[in-house]
Amino acid sequence: MAIIFLILQKAYCEPCWLFANPASKNTKCLDGGYDDWKHIVDAIERHETSKIHLDACLTYQQWWLHGTLDEEQESVTKKEKSFWRQVLSRLLEVTLILSTCNLAFRGHREKADSYDPSSLGNFLSIIELLRKYDPILQELLSKPKS
Ligand SMILES: [Zn+2]
Repeated sequence: MAIIFLILQKAYCEPCWLFANPASKNTKCLDGGYDDWKHIVDAIERHETSKIHLDACLTYQQWWLHGTLDEEQESVTKKEKSFWRQVLSRLLEVTLILSTCNLAFRGHREKADSYDPSSLGNFLSIIELLRKYDPILQELLSKPKS
């Protein structure tokens, strides 16, 4: 069964429009639609038994049932989005605490690469402290610096 839709007063077969081999030009669906309305029933019956249409329907059905790469990409993007939201939430909380207490964020000779904790400012010191207990900050600080 073909899924027919209309655009610009022409009928198109959705599975063929999406998945039929563009090199096969003998199907009306790929050649700008079908607009001979007097013979459309015969045309649809002929089209539904064509090999091109059956192959396209098979691909269409697999695509519909099993999802797509976009779905996988969307899942990865959602995970990344959640991670960065959690990072921002933590950084914002530290920022709010420091500003509420009127504490400076930076030290006089702050070096982020230094292993000397006294060279870190208040902000980085708190982040380093939270890193020990928070897996999100551990993951953030273990990422490459670029
Ligand atoms: Zn078709």
